[in-house]
Amino acid sequence: MDMWAAFIEGHGGNEVVAVGQRPMPERPAGHVLVRLHAATLNRVDLYMRNSGAGITHQLPQILGLDGAGTVAAVDADDPLLRPGQRVVLHPGIGCGRCEFCQRGEGVLCVRMRLLGEHRDGSFAQYVSLPASNVFPMPEGLSFAEAAALGVNHLTAWRMLFTQARLKPWETVLVFGVGGGVSLAALQLAKGTGARVIVTSRDNRKLERALAMGADHAINGQTEDVAQAVMAVTGGRGVDVVFENVGAAVWSAALKSLVRGGRLVTCGATTGDQPPADLRRIFIRQLQILGSTLGDFDEFRDLLGWVGRTGLKPVIDSTYPLAQVHAALDRLESGEQFGKVALQID
Ligand SMILES: [Zn+2]
Repeated sequence: MDMWAAFIEGHGGNEVVAVGQRPMPERPAGHVLVRLHAATLNRVDLYMRNSGAGITHQLPQILGLDGAGTVAAVDADDPLLRPGQRVVLHPGIGCGRCEFCQRGEGVLCVRMRLLGEHRDGSFAQYVSLPASNVFPMPEGLSFAEAAALGVNHLTAWRMLFTQARLKPWETVLVFGVGGGVSLAALQLAKGTGARVIVTSRDNRKLERALAMGADHAINGQTEDVAQAVMAVTGGRGVDVVFENVGAAVWSAALKSLVRGGRLVTCGATTGDQPPADLRRIFIRQLQILGSTLGDFDEFRDLLGWVGRTGLKPVIDSTYPLAQVHAALDRLESGEQFGKVALQID
């Protein structure tokens, strides 16, 4: 039996992305077959399309990291899941055997396989994955909103709360608001009561972020970000910088931190080799924290919190699976505010 999917047949532009029939995945015991109804796009989808260098994978491969849908098949004795249940996916499949998996930090697994990167992903009618990666969906969300939680909000959750240990009385500076993970950071940080300063080069995105509750907005193109941060913090600086822009903002990010402040990063879209400014780091005792994705327990906590607070991820636009090329173009344009979603019928 076959299913519809969007998959890469090579590496290059949109012409290597096909929408067509792929074999239905097998469901081994202990796995769940999920009928997907929505997925959202992440920058790594563009990376897999364009090169995929350094990521072990086989062509053709179905794109897509996150997703939400309903359980199509599951072991009869599964303690949590039943056929027809609405579920959301955690995209990281650890080996369960390495030292990091053994100590409960599967997110550090040395053999981690991610949907849409190392194996077939979520831009498909069906996906089969270990039951531990399939979570009941919070009430009140659309499938697209739920799908967005699996990468962006999980990543932002770990960055803010586990790595940077953000407190409700602190101030966090979020660079590049408008992207999915930065908007997730704005939502989660505001949800704790923290003060949030956002930056963007686009005034329309800043206005939307202010409407969502951001306390201050700085245009990174027309203003000196570090100076503006000092102005709104009384010359003190922020406790936490949340950053995935990289080289273009690194210097401003370090200069915006209070003494002993924490910078947490999960990306480097403008370059990954900025000057380190080591003297500033050791004299001011700054902490530089790396982060990527999040663990199962963090995802469970996030989903519970979303269910109680009614948080809804921001969806920029939704395309049918057959128009995946237009969706990829929308993401690549950088014009989006929130997630670009695929509806899978
Ligand atoms: Zn492992």
